[in-house]
Amino acid sequence: MEVYHQIDKHFVYDICEKEVMGENHGITFPDKKIMLIREDVYEGAVEGNGRDRLTIAHEFGHLHMHTNLGLARKPAETEIPAFRSSEWQASCFGGELLVSVDHIHRCKDPWDAMQMFGVSLDAAEFQWRKFTEEGIAP
Ligand SMILES: [Zn+2]
Repeated sequence: MEVYHQIDKHFVYDICEKEVMGENHGITFPDKKIMLIREDVYEGAVEGNGRDRLTIAHEFGHLHMHTNLGLARKPAETEIPAFRSSEWQASCFGGELLVSVDHIHRCKDPWDAMQMFGVSLDAAEFQWRKFTEEGIAP
């Protein structure tokens, strides 16, 4: 996050207490280039917790892809395709940011990928499945 601020001086982030964030692990306002990360999530990411690292990568997905979205509200009965969901897009971005397509060939299985890329086993298995479907994983 500190490095990203060096790339984009307008980007600001804050580490917020759980009392402020509640159940939200991270909140990003892409148009304002503001990211709020819950304190325990930030500390977990710093310590290498895969789930927390993925949460922050997910928030970077929102930062990069979801400017000018406004507040989209869908009618209660409306189904939207997964690939149009901003949450789905941010999760894909986060997974691919952490699990590098350029280095996945160095892993022999998802367990190996989990250790190499510092993600949870769930995230490693998800990316492994995706890369296998696309013919990229070994
Ligand atoms: Zn999200």
